Order: sequence, then C-alpha cells, then structure tokens
Amino acid sequence: MNSPFASARKQIDRATPYLEKYYDKETLKRAISALKKPQNLLKGTIKVKMDSGKVKTFAAFRSQHNNARGPYKGGIRFHPQVSEDEVKALSVWMSIKTAVVDLPFGGAKGGVKVDPKKLSKNELKRLSQAYAEFIAPHIGPKKDIPAPDVNTNAEIMIYMLEAFEKKTGKKAPATFTGKPVEKGGSLGRTEATGQGGLFILEAYAKKKKAVPKKTTIAVQGIGNVGYYFALLARKKGFKIVAISDSSGAIYDEKGINPKKLLELKKIYSNLKEVVKNKDYSYITNDELLALPVDVLAPAALENAINEKNVGGIKAKVILELANGPTTPEAEKVLNKRKVDIIPGVLANSGGVIVSYFEWLQNLKNEKWSKEKVNAKLKKKLTKAFNDIYKFKEENNFPYRQAAYVLALKKIIDEMIKK
Ligand code: NAD
Repeated sequence: MNSPFASARKQIDRATPYLEKYYDKETLKRAISALKKPQNLLKGTIKVKMDSGKVKTFAAFRSQHNNARGPYKGGIRFHPQVSEDEVKALSVWMSIKTAVVDLPFGGAKGGVKVDPKKLSKNELKRLSQAYAEFIAPHIGPKKDIPAPDVNTNAEIMIYMLEAFEKKTGKKAPATFTGKPVEKGGSLGRTEATGQGGLFILEAYAKKKKAVPKKTTIAVQGIGNVGYYFALLARKKGFKIVAISDSSGAIYDEKGINPKKLLELKKIYSNLKEVVKNKDYSYITNDELLALPVDVLAPAALENAINEKNVGGIKAKVILELANGPTTPEAEKVLNKRKVDIIPGVLANSGGVIVSYFEWLQNLKNEKWSKEKVNAKLKKKLTKAFNDIYKFKEENNFPYRQAAYVLALKKIIDEMIKK
C-alpha cells in the first residue's frame, strides 16, 4: 500500500528545486527538512465504554504539522484505515492548503482508528468525548482548531466541544469549526467543500472555454464532499454521469440526480443495494475511475488513482476533491499525458475557508448570511486559482507544482521571521 506521508514528502521534494532562487542553500535545507515532519505528534489510545459495559481501546492521533503562519488547523477522521502515517500526510496537506488560499492558519489533522459503522449512537458520542479529552491540552482557538473530516460531522463537533469545555473549564466555541449553525456554526459550512470544488471547476472551465452542459463528470464518493459537489454542479448544468460509494458505482449517460440518489441510498443503505431495487446501471468503482469523462472527481480517500489503475484513466481533468487521491507515481504518468490535475490543496479548500469564516464569526460574535459566505468563498478561491494559473503558465508547471512552490514559499518566509 502506498504511504500517504511518503507521497506528501515526495511532493515537497519535487517543489524544492524551484525554491532555490529565493533562499540560501542552508536556510532552504533547514526549512525543507523541518517541513518534512510534523512539529508535534500526539499518539496514544483512548478508552471507550461500550453499551455492553466492556471497555474498548482505540488508537488516536493528532499531527500538528506547522504553525508558522498561524494556529494549527485540520479535521478529525474516524476510519479503520487511520494511522500515524495517514494523519501526518493529511497534516502536511493542511499546511500547504491554508497557505495556498492565504488563511492565517497552519496545518494539522487528527483521527481515531475505528469503524464508526459498528458503533451505536451513544458509543460514537463517548468515543468523540474521549478523543476531545485526549487532545484537549493541545487545542484552542489560538492554538489548534479541529473540524470534521471523513465520518465526523457537526453533531460530533458539539460532543467534542462540550467535552473540551468541561475538561478545561473554559467556554471557547472557536476551538472547533464545522459546528451546527444554531450552535455557533457558519451558514454554508456543510456544503463548503463541494461548493468550493465547483467554484474551482468553473474557474478552470472559464480558462478552457468549456461549456457546463457539454462537460461530463464522474464523482468517486457520495459523502459530504462528493454529494454537495455533484448536487451543485448539476444545478449549474454540468452532467454527472457516475457516482460511487464504497459498495460500487452508478452510471447513467443521461445524467444522475444526486439528491434522488442520496434519498435512495438512505433507504437501501448503499448504492449496490439501490441498483438491486431500482432501475440504475451498476459499474464497479474501478470502472468509474476508467470512464471516458471530461472530469474525474475523486471525493473518497487517498491513493484512489495509483500506478495500478492509472493506465486506464481516460478523463481529461482530475479535480481532486479528496485529500491525496493521486499517488506521485500515477501523477507522473498523467503529467506526461498532459492530463490536468487540479490538486486537493486548492480544489477541496472550500471547507477550511468557510471554517476560517466560522472561526472569525465566533471570535467577533457575528453571524454572516449564506450569500456573504459564498461570495467571500468564491472571491478567495478564484484569486487562488488565478494566482496558481498565472504562476503555472509562467513556469510551465503542472498545477500541483505551482501550488506547492507558492505555498511553501509563504510558509518558509514566515518560518525565517521566527
Ligand atoms: P464522508 O465520510 O462524508 O464520505 C466519504 C465517501 O467516500 C462515502 O460516500 C464513502 O462511501 C465513499 N468511499 C469510501 N471508500 C470508497 C471507495 N473505495 N470507492 C468509492 N467511494 C468510497 O467524507 P468527506 O467529508 O466527504 O471526505 C471525503 C474526502 O474529502 C476525504 O479525502 C477528506 O479528507 C476530504 N475533505 C473533506 C472535507 C470536508 O469538509 N468534509 C474538506 C476537505 C477535504
């Protein structure tokens, strides 16, 4: 299995030669070596009382990668695949992402190795509380601000915030973002990552003079990110021809209505079961990745596009909605074939941008309208896209290289000042 942290380190290595003109050799060497590992890594086990009365232990992590540009920021994931390697990689990508879109934050990521589908609602609540107690001494509005990621949501953020406030004896709602709107969350946060992905796709389509109704899209993953991206892209006229979850994918060349599909998934539990009961064509996840679409939008987990399946990829553009879905080896092949890869550090940054808006609203005691949130999100993303596009054109770089060089420069400039 590919190591996501090795991928993240490789991406930093690939950008390093292009930073040589900005710094002396020793300064750059020291900065890059510091950036290739997290500043702090919390790892341990948390104990959770099961409904049966038995106590189970789970491996828990928080990787705080870099805070030169501001407090650490990054989500919390509950998944059986969570590991030290994975959280370290995800924390690197958060540092790059916050720099790409110019937020005054650094990068972090946390997770618990658990299959949340096997827990009852109360067990999930106790797991969330135990994790918040585990990280409590190391987080806070000016220190490290967690948010939701895979299998965590607004409700879980509140379990964590309450446990954190109980443990520290302080009220500090700005410690967590991605909260429910009625409990200090921001309007627009739930759909922010999918919405942001769409703003980036629209900026890209404008440069390429591509028309939405002639643009076909396959989306891997119908979770928070994949669902809202598909829903909002369809509303703008793009044609969603395939969507998957971990059980398999659904294909319809005439276009899929994501809202209807999600309603059916709720009834039948997964897409494979939906196909058994409803009139949809089933394809495997591997077949979805190999569809001859204009845009392939991976919105599930890392390493989706790798050296084994890259030969079959026929999409013209990869819009990375997930973190780390393309391995560096697969990327090399795609770059040679001139397939544009819009990197996750840009394409999925809508979530952390609106998290930043939520944090600001909490600290200033304000409530912004959804229109204001979306207008500010669009402005920030369009600027980031145009900056990267210009830099990429000037240097003949792929998008990721341009994003990494620009972001690493912003981070290193701050590291040097300290
Ligand atoms: P989620 O848990 O809501 O959804 C994940 C989806 O992926 C589910 O539909 C699941 O069935 C599907 N999936 C899992 N394995 C799959 C496979 N092998 N093939 C096809 N589908 C598969 O998670 P999410 O919050 O939507 O996050 C998805 C990705 O986006 C992750 O990489 C996450 O780090 C990244 N991301 C999320 C946010 C956010 O705001 N939630 C922000 C930035 C990046």
